[in-house]
Amino acid sequence: MLSTGMRTKNAVIAAAGIAATLTVAGRAQGPADHPAVTVDGQRYTPASILARNMGSAEDQETAFPPHKIVGNIYYVGTRTLSSFLIVTPQGSVLIDTTYERNAEVLKKSVEKLGFSFADVKIVLGNHAHGDHQEGDAMVKQMTGAQVMAMAEDVPALRTMKPGGKEHPIDKVLHDGDTVVLGGVTLVAHLTAGHTQGATTWTMKTSEGGKSYDVVFFTSLRSGATVSPAVAAMFDRSFALVRTLPCDVPLGDHPAEYRMQEKYATLKSGAPNPFVDKAGCLTEARIQEAMYHAVVAEQQK
Ligand SMILES: [Zn+2]
Repeated sequence: MLSTGMRTKNAVIAAAGIAATLTVAGRAQGPADHPAVTVDGQRYTPASILARNMGSAEDQETAFPPHKIVGNIYYVGTRTLSSFLIVTPQGSVLIDTTYERNAEVLKKSVEKLGFSFADVKIVLGNHAHGDHQEGDAMVKQMTGAQVMAMAEDVPALRTMKPGGKEHPIDKVLHDGDTVVLGGVTLVAHLTAGHTQGATTWTMKTSEGGKSYDVVFFTSLRSGATVSPAVAAMFDRSFALVRTLPCDVPLGDHPAEYRMQEKYATLKSGAPNPFVDKAGCLTEARIQEAMYHAVVAEQQK
Protein backbone atom coordinates (compact mmCIF):
# COMPACT_ATOMS: atom_id res chain seq x y z
CA MET A 1 0.00 0.00 0.00
CA LEU A 2 2.75 2.38 0.96
CA SER A 3 4.73 1.79 -2.21
CA THR A 4 1.61 2.26 -4.35
CA GLY A 5 0.94 5.52 -2.57
CA MET A 6 4.51 6.64 -3.06
CA ARG A 7 4.45 5.81 -6.74
CA THR A 8 1.21 7.72 -7.24
CA LYS A 9 2.57 10.69 -5.33
CA ASN A 10 5.77 10.74 -7.38
CA ALA A 11 3.83 10.52 -10.62
CA VAL A 12 1.59 13.37 -9.55
CA ILE A 13 4.61 15.50 -8.69
CA ALA A 14 6.14 14.72 -12.08
CA ALA A 15 2.91 15.62 -13.88
CA ALA A 16 2.49 18.75 -11.80
CA GLY A 17 6.05 19.78 -12.67
CA ILE A 18 5.11 19.66 -16.34
CA ALA A 19 2.12 21.85 -15.64
CA ALA A 20 4.49 24.30 -13.92
CA THR A 21 2.34 24.60 -10.84
CA LEU A 22 4.95 24.82 -8.10
CA THR A 23 3.85 26.60 -4.97
CA VAL A 24 6.00 29.28 -3.34
CA ALA A 25 7.10 26.71 -0.78
CA GLY A 26 8.42 24.62 -3.65
CA ARG A 27 5.89 21.93 -2.92
CA ALA A 28 4.41 20.44 -6.04
CA GLN A 29 0.71 21.08 -6.36
CA GLY A 30 -1.12 19.24 -9.09
CA PRO A 31 -4.87 18.92 -9.39
CA ALA A 32 -6.80 18.21 -6.23
CA ASP A 33 -7.24 14.77 -4.72
CA HIS A 34 -10.99 15.43 -4.61
CA PRO A 35 -13.70 14.84 -5.57
CA ALA A 36 -13.41 11.07 -5.88
CA VAL A 37 -15.58 8.94 -8.15
CA THR A 38 -15.79 5.18 -8.53
CA VAL A 39 -16.40 3.73 -11.97
CA ASP A 40 -16.39 -0.04 -12.63
CA GLY A 41 -15.00 -0.58 -9.13
CA GLN A 42 -12.03 1.73 -9.69
CA ARG A 43 -11.62 4.94 -7.69
CA TYR A 44 -10.47 8.10 -9.44
CA THR A 45 -9.60 11.64 -8.37
CA PRO A 46 -8.44 14.54 -10.58
CA ALA A 47 -4.91 13.92 -9.29
CA SER A 48 -4.99 10.19 -9.97
CA ILE A 49 -6.33 10.73 -13.48
CA LEU A 50 -3.62 13.23 -14.32
CA ALA A 51 -0.94 10.92 -12.91
CA ARG A 52 -2.36 8.00 -14.89
CA ASN A 53 -2.44 10.08 -18.08
CA MET A 54 0.98 11.73 -17.86
CA GLY A 55 3.22 9.29 -15.98
CA SER A 56 6.73 10.59 -15.38
CA ALA A 57 8.68 13.10 -17.44
CA GLU A 58 10.60 10.12 -18.81
CA ASP A 59 7.36 8.37 -19.81
CA GLN A 60 6.29 11.43 -21.78
CA GLU A 61 9.49 11.41 -23.85
CA THR A 62 10.22 7.71 -24.26
CA ALA A 63 8.87 5.91 -27.32
CA PHE A 64 6.42 3.12 -26.63
CA PRO A 65 7.19 0.27 -29.06
CA PRO A 66 5.51 1.42 -32.28
CA HIS A 67 2.86 -1.06 -33.39
CA LYS A 68 -0.04 -1.67 -35.69
CA ILE A 69 -3.37 -1.06 -33.94
CA VAL A 70 -5.82 -2.13 -36.62
CA GLY A 71 -5.98 -1.96 -40.42
CA ASN A 72 -3.88 0.99 -41.58
CA ILE A 73 -3.62 2.64 -38.13
CA TYR A 74 -0.40 2.57 -36.12
CA TYR A 75 0.79 3.81 -32.73
CA VAL A 76 3.92 6.00 -32.92
CA GLY A 77 3.68 7.92 -29.63
CA THR A 78 5.46 7.77 -26.30
CA ARG A 79 4.56 5.75 -23.21
CA THR A 80 1.97 8.31 -22.11
CA LEU A 81 1.34 10.68 -25.04
CA SER A 82 -0.53 9.19 -27.98
CA SER A 83 0.43 9.77 -31.57
CA PHE A 84 -1.32 7.88 -34.34
CA LEU A 85 -0.20 7.28 -37.92
CA ILE A 86 -2.80 6.49 -40.58
CA VAL A 87 -1.13 5.12 -43.67
CA THR A 88 -2.67 5.51 -47.13
CA PRO A 89 -1.36 5.01 -50.68
CA GLN A 90 -1.14 8.80 -50.98
CA GLY A 91 0.79 9.49 -47.79
CA SER A 92 0.03 9.48 -44.09
CA VAL A 93 -2.03 11.39 -41.57
CA LEU A 94 -0.47 12.02 -38.16
CA ILE A 95 -2.81 12.68 -35.24
CA ASP A 96 -1.00 14.50 -32.42
CA THR A 97 2.61 15.59 -32.60
CA THR A 98 2.84 15.80 -28.77
CA TYR A 99 5.64 17.97 -27.33
CA GLU A 100 8.08 19.49 -29.80
CA ARG A 101 10.95 17.65 -28.12
CA ASN A 102 9.31 14.37 -29.19
CA ALA A 103 9.44 15.07 -32.95
CA GLU A 104 12.53 12.89 -33.46
CA VAL A 105 11.01 10.19 -31.23
CA LEU A 106 7.93 10.04 -33.45
CA LYS A 107 10.06 10.07 -36.60
CA LYS A 108 12.08 7.09 -35.37
CA SER A 109 8.90 5.20 -34.47
CA VAL A 110 7.44 5.84 -37.94
CA GLU A 111 10.67 4.61 -39.55
CA LYS A 112 10.83 1.56 -37.29
CA LEU A 113 7.48 0.51 -38.73
CA GLY A 114 8.96 0.78 -42.23
CA PHE A 115 7.31 4.06 -43.20
CA SER A 116 8.83 7.43 -44.08
CA PHE A 117 8.24 10.50 -41.91
CA ALA A 118 8.39 12.60 -45.10
CA ASP A 119 5.21 10.81 -46.23
CA VAL A 120 3.20 12.57 -43.50
CA LYS A 121 0.94 14.84 -45.56
CA ILE A 122 -1.59 15.96 -42.93
CA VAL A 123 -1.18 16.74 -39.23
CA LEU A 124 -4.28 16.75 -37.05
CA GLY A 125 -4.66 17.27 -33.33
CA ASN A 126 -7.09 16.26 -30.63
CA HIS A 127 -6.95 19.43 -28.54
CA ALA A 128 -4.92 22.60 -28.15
CA HIS A 129 -2.67 21.67 -25.25
CA GLY A 130 1.10 21.44 -25.53
CA ASP A 131 1.36 17.75 -24.65
CA HIS A 132 -0.62 16.97 -27.83
CA GLN A 133 0.06 19.73 -30.35
CA GLU A 134 3.20 21.64 -29.38
CA GLY A 135 5.20 19.80 -32.04
CA ASP A 136 3.03 20.84 -35.00
CA ALA A 137 5.41 23.52 -36.32
CA MET A 138 8.45 21.23 -36.03
CA VAL A 139 6.70 18.31 -37.72
CA LYS A 140 5.54 20.60 -40.51
CA GLN A 141 9.16 21.75 -40.95
CA MET A 142 10.33 18.13 -41.09
CA THR A 143 7.63 16.82 -43.43
CA GLY A 144 5.95 19.71 -45.24
CA ALA A 145 2.58 18.41 -43.97
CA GLN A 146 -0.57 20.52 -43.89
CA VAL A 147 -1.74 21.28 -40.35
CA MET A 148 -5.51 21.35 -39.90
CA ALA A 149 -7.31 22.47 -36.76
CA MET A 150 -10.83 22.89 -35.40
CA ALA A 151 -11.87 26.55 -35.55
CA GLU A 152 -12.68 26.77 -31.83
CA ASP A 153 -9.15 25.67 -30.91
CA VAL A 154 -7.39 28.09 -33.27
CA PRO A 155 -7.02 30.95 -30.72
CA ALA A 156 -5.38 28.58 -28.20
CA LEU A 157 -3.13 27.08 -30.87
CA ARG A 158 -2.01 30.57 -31.93
CA THR A 159 -0.56 31.10 -28.46
CA MET A 160 1.46 27.85 -28.72
CA LYS A 161 4.82 29.07 -30.00
CA PRO A 162 7.70 26.77 -29.05
CA GLY A 163 10.97 28.63 -29.61
CA GLY A 164 8.96 31.57 -30.96
CA LYS A 165 7.70 29.60 -33.97
CA GLU A 166 4.23 30.52 -35.17
CA HIS A 167 1.76 27.67 -34.87
CA PRO A 168 1.01 26.61 -38.43
CA ILE A 169 -2.65 26.30 -39.40
CA ASP A 170 -3.11 25.53 -43.08
CA LYS A 171 -6.79 24.71 -42.89
CA VAL A 172 -9.46 25.60 -40.36
CA LEU A 173 -12.05 22.88 -39.76
CA HIS A 174 -15.59 22.96 -38.44
CA ASP A 175 -17.72 20.39 -36.65
CA GLY A 176 -18.56 17.56 -39.04
CA ASP A 177 -15.88 18.40 -41.61
CA THR A 178 -14.05 15.56 -43.28
CA VAL A 179 -10.36 15.15 -44.03
CA VAL A 180 -9.73 12.87 -46.99
CA LEU A 181 -6.45 11.28 -48.08
CA GLY A 182 -5.75 8.17 -50.14
CA GLY A 183 -9.19 6.65 -49.69
CA VAL A 184 -9.38 7.38 -45.94
CA THR A 185 -12.04 9.75 -44.63
CA LEU A 186 -11.64 11.16 -41.13
CA VAL A 187 -14.59 13.00 -39.60
CA ALA A 188 -13.95 15.84 -37.14
CA HIS A 189 -16.46 15.88 -34.26
CA LEU A 190 -16.39 18.91 -32.01
CA THR A 191 -16.38 17.48 -28.47
CA ALA A 192 -15.55 20.60 -26.50
CA GLY A 193 -15.18 21.06 -22.78
CA HIS A 194 -11.56 20.18 -22.03
CA THR A 195 -10.72 22.86 -24.60
CA GLN A 196 -13.04 24.96 -26.75
CA GLY A 197 -12.21 23.00 -29.89
CA ALA A 198 -11.43 19.54 -28.52
CA THR A 199 -11.96 17.18 -31.43
CA THR A 200 -12.86 13.50 -31.57
CA TRP A 201 -11.86 11.92 -34.88
CA THR A 202 -13.60 8.94 -36.44
CA MET A 203 -12.79 6.76 -39.43
CA LYS A 204 -13.37 3.31 -40.81
CA THR A 205 -10.64 0.80 -41.44
CA SER A 206 -10.61 -2.85 -42.38
CA GLU A 207 -8.64 -5.87 -41.33
CA GLY A 208 -9.08 -9.53 -42.20
CA GLY A 209 -12.05 -8.71 -44.41
CA LYS A 210 -13.92 -6.92 -41.62
CA SER A 211 -14.70 -3.23 -41.37
CA TYR A 212 -14.14 -1.40 -38.07
CA ASP A 213 -15.26 1.95 -36.74
CA VAL A 214 -12.32 3.63 -35.03
CA VAL A 215 -12.76 6.51 -32.59
CA PHE A 216 -9.82 8.72 -31.65
CA PHE A 217 -11.30 10.25 -28.51
CA THR A 218 -10.13 13.62 -27.32
CA SER A 219 -9.75 14.35 -23.62
CA LEU A 220 -13.11 14.78 -21.89
CA ARG A 221 -11.42 15.73 -18.63
CA SER A 222 -13.02 18.59 -16.73
CA GLY A 223 -11.00 21.37 -15.14
CA ALA A 224 -11.07 22.06 -11.39
CA THR A 225 -14.03 24.37 -11.89
CA VAL A 226 -16.71 24.33 -14.57
CA SER A 227 -18.40 27.51 -15.83
CA PRO A 228 -21.96 27.34 -17.19
CA ALA A 229 -20.60 27.79 -20.73
CA VAL A 230 -18.17 24.90 -20.31
CA ALA A 231 -20.90 22.78 -18.69
CA ALA A 232 -23.02 23.27 -21.81
CA MET A 233 -20.09 22.08 -23.93
CA PHE A 234 -19.52 18.98 -21.78
CA ASP A 235 -23.24 18.10 -21.72
CA ARG A 236 -23.30 18.20 -25.50
CA SER A 237 -20.01 16.29 -25.82
CA PHE A 238 -20.92 13.44 -23.44
CA ALA A 239 -24.22 12.97 -25.30
CA LEU A 240 -22.46 13.10 -28.66
CA VAL A 241 -19.77 10.50 -27.96
CA ARG A 242 -22.50 7.99 -27.13
CA THR A 243 -23.82 8.30 -30.68
CA LEU A 244 -20.53 7.50 -32.44
CA PRO A 245 -20.29 4.04 -33.98
CA CYS A 246 -17.28 2.42 -32.30
CA ASP A 247 -15.38 -0.84 -32.44
CA VAL A 248 -11.89 0.45 -31.63
CA PRO A 249 -11.62 3.14 -28.93
CA LEU A 250 -8.38 5.12 -28.83
CA GLY A 251 -7.45 8.13 -26.71
CA ASP A 252 -5.06 11.05 -26.48
CA HIS A 253 -3.30 9.31 -23.57
CA PRO A 254 -2.74 5.54 -23.93
CA ALA A 255 -4.05 4.81 -20.43
CA GLU A 256 -7.49 6.01 -21.57
CA TYR A 257 -7.81 2.89 -23.72
CA ARG A 258 -5.55 0.59 -21.66
CA MET A 259 -2.98 0.44 -24.43
CA GLN A 260 -0.22 -1.23 -22.43
CA GLU A 261 -2.51 -4.00 -21.24
CA LYS A 262 -3.88 -4.59 -24.75
CA TYR A 263 -0.44 -4.40 -26.36
CA ALA A 264 0.83 -7.07 -23.97
CA THR A 265 -1.81 -9.48 -25.28
CA LEU A 266 -1.10 -8.88 -29.01
CA LYS A 267 -0.47 -12.23 -30.65
CA SER A 268 -0.63 -13.08 -34.29
CA GLY A 269 -3.67 -15.22 -34.91
CA ALA A 270 -5.45 -14.16 -31.70
CA PRO A 271 -8.35 -11.67 -31.78
CA ASN A 272 -7.08 -8.10 -32.00
CA PRO A 273 -7.22 -6.72 -28.42
CA PHE A 274 -7.67 -3.18 -29.71
CA VAL A 275 -11.08 -4.17 -31.06
CA ASP A 276 -12.96 -3.45 -27.86
CA LYS A 277 -16.56 -2.47 -28.48
CA ALA A 278 -17.40 -3.04 -24.81
CA GLY A 279 -14.68 -0.58 -23.78
CA CYS A 280 -15.70 2.21 -26.16
CA LEU A 281 -17.32 4.40 -23.52
CA THR A 282 -15.31 3.42 -20.46
CA GLU A 283 -13.19 6.56 -20.42
CA ALA A 284 -16.16 8.82 -21.22
CA ARG A 285 -18.05 7.33 -18.26
CA ILE A 286 -15.10 8.01 -15.93
CA GLN A 287 -14.80 11.60 -17.14
CA GLU A 288 -18.54 12.22 -17.08
CA ALA A 289 -18.76 10.96 -13.49
CA MET A 290 -15.86 13.22 -12.53
CA TYR A 291 -17.38 16.19 -14.34
CA HIS A 292 -20.65 15.77 -12.43
CA ALA A 293 -18.74 15.38 -9.14
CA VAL A 294 -16.75 18.57 -9.82
CA VAL A 295 -19.95 20.49 -10.60
CA ALA A 296 -21.66 19.10 -7.47
CA GLU A 297 -18.66 20.00 -5.32
CA GLN A 298 -18.52 23.59 -6.57
CA GLN A 299 -22.26 24.03 -5.91
CA LYS A 300 -21.85 23.08 -2.23
ZN1 LIG B 1 -5.30 18.65 -22.24
